[in-house]
Amino acid sequence: MDDSSAQQPTDHAPPINTSGGRRTSARDPAMRPFMLGPLLVTMAIAGALAGHWATGHAAPAAPVTGTSSTEWRRHGYDAAETRFSPLSAINTGNVAHLGPAWHFRFDRPRGVEATPIMVDGTLYVSGPWGVVYALDARNGRPKWKHDPQVPAGKGIHACCDVVNRGVAVDNGRVFVATIDGRLQALDSRSGRLLWSTRSFDPARPYTITGAPRVVRDLVVIGNAGAEYGVRGFVSAYDAATGDLRWRFYTVPGNPADGPDSAVSDRPLRDLALPTWRGEWWRYGGGGTVWDAMAWDPDLDLLYFGVGNGSPHDRDVRSPGGGDNLFLSSIVAVRPATGEYVWHYQTTPGDSWDYTATQHMILTDLEIGGRSRKVLMQAPKNGFFYVLDRATGELLSADKYVPVNWASHVDLASGRPVENEGARYPTGKPFLVQPSQLGGHNWQPMAWSPLTGLVYIPAQENTGFMMKEPGFRFERDRWNTGVLNPPMPPDPAVLKQARDSMRGHLLAWDPVRRTAVWRTPHASSWNGGVLATAGNLVFQGVGGGGLAAFDARDGRRLWQSDTWLDIVGGPISYELDGQQYIAAAAGFGSSIHLTSSALLPRTGAPVPGGLFVWKLGGKAAMPHASERPTLPPPPDHGSDADVGRGAMLYARYCMQCHGAGAMAGGGMPDLRHSPYLADAALFSRPLLEGILAARGMPDFRDTLRPEDTEAIRAYVVRMAHVMSGEAGTR
Ligand code: CA
Repeated sequence: MDDSSAQQPTDHAPPINTSGGRRTSARDPAMRPFMLGPLLVTMAIAGALAGHWATGHAAPAAPVTGTSSTEWRRHGYDAAETRFSPLSAINTGNVAHLGPAWHFRFDRPRGVEATPIMVDGTLYVSGPWGVVYALDARNGRPKWKHDPQVPAGKGIHACCDVVNRGVAVDNGRVFVATIDGRLQALDSRSGRLLWSTRSFDPARPYTITGAPRVVRDLVVIGNAGAEYGVRGFVSAYDAATGDLRWRFYTVPGNPADGPDSAVSDRPLRDLALPTWRGEWWRYGGGGTVWDAMAWDPDLDLLYFGVGNGSPHDRDVRSPGGGDNLFLSSIVAVRPATGEYVWHYQTTPGDSWDYTATQHMILTDLEIGGRSRKVLMQAPKNGFFYVLDRATGELLSADKYVPVNWASHVDLASGRPVENEGARYPTGKPFLVQPSQLGGHNWQPMAWSPLTGLVYIPAQENTGFMMKEPGFRFERDRWNTGVLNPPMPPDPAVLKQARDSMRGHLLAWDPVRRTAVWRTPHASSWNGGVLATAGNLVFQGVGGGGLAAFDARDGRRLWQSDTWLDIVGGPISYELDGQQYIAAAAGFGSSIHLTSSALLPRTGAPVPGGLFVWKLGGKAAMPHASERPTLPPPPDHGSDADVGRGAMLYARYCMQCHGAGAMAGGGMPDLRHSPYLADAALFSRPLLEGILAARGMPDFRDTLRPEDTEAIRAYVVRMAHVMSGEAGTR
């Protein structure tokens, strides 16, 4: 069941070929500077702790407001989002003795993606549905809980589960953003609600899954929903009152709409508007700011990453082409006003769901004999970018995983050179690398100034892109304009895409522009990363708990012996002279919402929680039970019914119940559902809403009984064709 713990790689430089960076290993002559032994490492740690940096190309991040070496005060540790803890009591020499200190279980199941915050001896962590827990950081004793009471039906608008990536804590207030669009401030001592403000109309398919960031006296938050047809924006609110201070739309609205539209806003009017064609505003356009931000107080710049286009296919969204700014871009603004300063677009005219919302890290690098203030990002499109963060100038862009949509990025123009067929012209499918899951998704990476390496939760995958024949936009529904998986359902193609999925921890040298090592994982979908001054890298590994790796060569040094599914970012803190490692866990979250490949087969959804380790820890950990499976009824549908059911399933069911009707983990696998037994029973959740309280939306205004029966015929067919196959997306 727990494949990952059984597979202990002995070769920490696996034979992974990328078309970009040269494969290297610790035995590679080019790696010798890293292999000088303990002396250099000891010097580097001593230098780091003294605030002096002696290593060759590694320089410290700019001084950051409000960090503390013993606490974890901000989402990414510091405003530069380095996710590097200077604590070193737990290190490569003793990490094998790491054991459970305590754990706290949430009271609701579903996915958990949070990075906890630790301030003044209290841990603040958000679970599914944006429920916030405040816990004593010594022993996990609950101090208070805040449940924002999100209506269960709102879950239909969450592409990738009702997750929350964390809270922000500042000046006695805890800030959380809810899936239905409320930004709330809580008293950090009592959990009392201080204020709550709506960021959007919850009837529209916007959601918020990201963590707010405090920037001086403002709280900044974006939103999600670009698979459903929305127009993205990011907002800043007064931290004391919740009043809206500024809002930045990432795509132009309808120019005919008057003064609140794009035309009134200079960067949208002058820069973005000329890059769109047709009537994109009918589709929203996309460009949601659903995750990453970083802040440089010295340059007085706030950076945010912008998501994919809506619909995915540019030919639908903006017929005739265009770059479609600011989709798939990194945008820098003045934090006090939201005033535009610069942008860099990673994927002009996105057609592949290539968001640039992935984690960004700010640091200083010595490049070409000059110290540069840089911003680094590994977005979904498979290229690792280093930008000058003062100006937005592109310094380098290199493939960090297999990529076939573009041959390279031209450094002079800053633009990718696309490969033929990559935009899947009508009737022609394209097997694209990376897939819509990306070479790297939202799971945060980390930067170690000791090794000069960026640690990336990397993924290799292939996705099938094909125009949806006769695509018709349906307001507030799943609207990508793309068929994935292909029609009719072909087990061989599904298997090919699934077999291409692999995950690894990648150590990337941003100066030499190459991979230094890659350590493979058993699962393709793994967790965020923490780097520490103990020369350790911690990462959740695909439903197999938390693991620790040597930051210098990628050797696996420790792994927790539990079923935990950790995808958020682990943290480290120190209390009473003791160093702790903490990580939130929970079943669900995007791929694991519908995947049972590496997860416990349980009788009911399993609530996650917050799990904490220390040296010599011996606390008990929970274990999960086995799940019985129900055989499907006989395959009764005609090929025509199954084909129509597949179309309907892809539009209305897939994002929760999994591609090919194969689910698991946090969601019912319909192939084994008791509702599959007959047509009347199967239609009741869909047409009568009998499971609404559990978050299953009804489709009575959309589907007719013959539609639900076609969906049932498709699911039954898949139950027979793909019996015994673990689900994935
Ligand atoms: Ca997307």
